[in-house]
Amino acid sequence: MTVKAKTMLPMVDLKGQYRKIKSEIDASIQECLDSAAFINGAHVKSFQKNLEFYLNVKHVIPCANGTDALQIAMMALALQVDDEVIVPAFTYVATAEVIALLKLKPIMVDVDPKTFNITAEIIEKAITPRTKAIVPVHLFGQSCDMEAIMAVAEKHNLYVIEDNAQAIGADYNFSNGQKAKTGTIGHIGCTSFFPSKNLGCYGDGGAIMTNDDDLAAKLRMMANHGQSRQYYHDSIGVNSRLDSIQAGILDVKLRHLDEYSAARQQAAAYYDAAFAQIEGLETPARQHNSTHVFHQYTLKVKNGQRAALRTYLTEGGVSAMIYYPMPLYKQTAYAHYWQGGELPVTEELCDEVMSLPIHTEMTEETLAYITETVKSFFDK
Ligand SMILES: *Cc1c(COP(=O)(O)O)cnc(C)c1O
Repeated sequence: MTVKAKTMLPMVDLKGQYRKIKSEIDASIQECLDSAAFINGAHVKSFQKNLEFYLNVKHVIPCANGTDALQIAMMALALQVDDEVIVPAFTYVATAEVIALLKLKPIMVDVDPKTFNITAEIIEKAITPRTKAIVPVHLFGQSCDMEAIMAVAEKHNLYVIEDNAQAIGADYNFSNGQKAKTGTIGHIGCTSFFPSKNLGCYGDGGAIMTNDDDLAAKLRMMANHGQSRQYYHDSIGVNSRLDSIQAGILDVKLRHLDEYSAARQQAAAYYDAAFAQIEGLETPARQHNSTHVFHQYTLKVKNGQRAALRTYLTEGGVSAMIYYPMPLYKQTAYAHYWQGGELPVTEELCDEVMSLPIHTEMTEETLAYITETVKSFFDK
């Protein structure tokens, strides 16, 4: 019988991460307090510039959260009621939510069974004369095949809005040898700075990216009450800002992002090696032309053993989460967009996926404990 663990090994360790950069973070927050420039202060401009440089993108428009980023992106494209937007059925709800909110139609499609991402092939089958945009989600930390997706978009004259909430820092490699950061390849990229994201602040935050000057102007206007200059409102917009304290925190953490990604990749490599021989587990596949920044380390648990394994891990003090348990088209709020039937890969993933703890503060000891606990379930 397993002894009930007193403490749980968490999915993320934000306290441990903060402890290591406490002096930098505290100084940045104190600066903000002293300046009292809480909105659009110096930190916002600085973080915007530093993120533009890091991503090698012309424009970053900071905003209040990742969901707003997606909504503002849709608003800036001036889409019409009932225009169709293609999204994966296996994603976080926000991706489809903003589409529905704007009275557009989310067209939910299946994903690749290995990478969990949508592909150009799947997208092309879903295109109709009403299709106006595609939202590739770089799920769990690796890029969709953007070169192929951009080619399909160009052929059918569609906008591409990348949902990069889970993959900031990942590199996509083009066939000609060029590289680009995810979120900078489509017409617009969106990201979230929710605390547990790979680049997270200490509250809510988000950003929109584009290399297009005209789109950047529209995005900025939409995020700021549709205002073209102060007190002149050309469009109906929203109020969505990244506050100065959060921007200051992000500016500090951006300096550590590559080292954070490396720590996640190291933990993933440890898991991969430990689980390679377990028949009932499938370790995460790598997209051949993308790096993986492991927002999540997501296994497929075969033979209907997921629930039992998860219970076993919980009893052993190891957190495990199911991202995501239900296809979007089965969610009460989205079922009416669905034509019927099932998407086989999405169904299978909802039944089999399980994510293990992965974060920037994992020690060899923690990894050994987690992997031994998983192994002992299969050795029973
Ligand atoms: C987190 C997330 C969002 C939403 O970001 P918020 O900042 O929480 O609004 C959107 N899409 C995906 C794929 C996400 O993981």
